[in-house]
Amino acid sequence: MSEHATENPTENPTENPTENPTGRATDSAARSVTVRVPAKVNVQLAVAAARPDGFHDLANVFLAVSLYDEVTATPAAGTKVTCEGPDADQVPLDRTNLAARAAETLARRAGLSPDVHLHIAKNIPVAGGMAGGSADGAAALVACDALWGLNTPMTELLDICAELGSDVPFSLVGGAALGTGRGEILTPVPAGTFHWVFAVADGGLSTPAVFREFDRLAAGRDLPAPQASPALLAALASGDPDALAPTLVNDLQPAALSLRPRLAAVLAAGTGAGALAALVSGSGPTTAFLVRDPEAAAEVAAVLDASGLCRATRVASSPAPGATLL
Ligand code: ATP
Repeated sequence: MSEHATENPTENPTENPTENPTGRATDSAARSVTVRVPAKVNVQLAVAAARPDGFHDLANVFLAVSLYDEVTATPAAGTKVTCEGPDADQVPLDRTNLAARAAETLARRAGLSPDVHLHIAKNIPVAGGMAGGSADGAAALVACDALWGLNTPMTELLDICAELGSDVPFSLVGGAALGTGRGEILTPVPAGTFHWVFAVADGGLSTPAVFREFDRLAAGRDLPAPQASPALLAALASGDPDALAPTLVNDLQPAALSLRPRLAAVLAAGTGAGALAALVSGSGPTTAFLVRDPEAAAEVAAVLDASGLCRATRVASSPAPGATLL
């Protein structure tokens, strides 16, 4: 994670209501901080039966991919969230937004009031199984920490992330990691470079609904304890896409396909176009295609774009860095 904060003085400080009596903007009023944060794909998602508290133990191998949101934090009166991007109308702008919740949690711990405007430039599909909301939570945390000059230790930032949601700690650290527990206990794993195409679906899928469908499909079955696949971890470390392709597995895929049967055609179109492997990303409905190189990525994306089976495609590589101050 980069630790360099960029200070962007406001272009016209005289328009700033927090200007101090000397005619110069106060230090904090002149700052804004932007953090870039990646989406994730799960290359292995092994899911246990529901625990008594309703959560599921997971063995979850996360890869951060080069598809990013950017969150800019600027001083404001109270907490305000704005969003731009193709899915902006699906993003809640109230206190349920994970970016706002991150700012409020950090401020409460620091004894501050959460006076910040968080602007989200959203490129990660919303409710797409790529942890977009979690990414914005992690980004807002890093941005507010820098804006407020808190220098919160990484361990404490990770605690706040785990409080906000199972996928948020990984958005903070990025790279490649094995997540256990609810997915929030992270162990970094070595990973070479891989190339991906993502097919963005029309409309999202609710993660809790996909887990409920998983529970329904698993009823009466004895599920093994989730464990990271040694073959998958070795392939990841090798950087060999032909070795990685047959190891990819997502236990939530049957549930996502049951709720959204037409995703099967998207998966088939991607492999038909030359992808080495295809799987639903997390809880879906975004589908992920492992390809050999950037040229193959462009070919698979072109076929999927022309197929009319998805709303859009994105080409990306992994691993990508976690939340980074720009
Ligand atoms: P995951 O992969 O972690 O299960 P997801 O990628 O499927 O999540 P998100 O994009 O995180 O889904 O959105 C899930 C829901 O979270 C949205 O429908 C929205 O109501 C809510 N949400 C809260 N904050 C945000 C945010 N900053 N960006 C997008 N959605 C948010």
